[in-house]
Amino acid sequence: MNERKKQRQAIRKAMEYAVGEGNMPAAADLLLQYREDRIVLDLLLEFYSYLPEAKADHVQEIRTVARSGGLFLLAAVTEQSAYMYLVSSEGVEFHGAIEQGYLDQDLLDYFGFTDLEAFRKHCGSCDDLPIYEPLQVDENVCPACHAVTGELHELGCPVEICPWCGGQLIHCPCRFERLEVETLSSEEELVRLEALLNERGRIAYSPDQRPGFADEGPGIVMD
Ligand SMILES: [Zn+2]
Ligand SMILES: [Zn+2]
Repeated sequence: MNERKKQRQAIRKAMEYAVGEGNMPAAADLLLQYREDRIVLDLLLEFYSYLPEAKADHVQEIRTVARSGGLFLLAAVTEQSAYMYLVSSEGVEFHGAIEQGYLDQDLLDYFGFTDLEAFRKHCGSCDDLPIYEPLQVDENVCPACHAVTGELHELGCPVEICPWCGGQLIHCPCRFERLEVETLSSEEELVRLEALLNERGRIAYSPDQRPGFADEGPGIVMD
């Protein structure tokens, strides 16, 4: 069973307890809309497993508060409120109700808000935040590692193209040849590989690299 299918099952299970009577169809609809989007699936599992207000509620919309690289600050808009979640391929973190208007200084800096004031202004009205589009349909985001167009992939991303042979970097033999090793087995070799890649010039994500199939996220460089 694939990873997202497992996630969806876990979400449905949590929803049985979390969603109020009569709201299940709407909640299930949203899940269906984002069924292939790991970012939102992570968010929904977190939301339904640990309801922010510990009472029945359901997510009606997902909106983008800010995004940079593979890091997404999303708003889960519910009947009662809207809650912020910071999500990446590394995991998900709850950041409180949006109306509290608070974000850590590190994150303000990271997402380019000059200060809390600017942040509050930005999300003053939830309705003005753009609806978050499922990753699989957003051409400008790598479907595996979520690099945006022009950004480098996460090392190990199956979509990254090899700068030596033009093949798929995690599958072609170049990494072994360049390092003069049989297998990649240590952190030190990965560091060396990254240095060699940078020297050669890594190929940033662009929409024409999108594979025609759904893939399973960053693979493993080590064999
Ligand atoms: Zn990628
Ligand atoms: Zn190669």
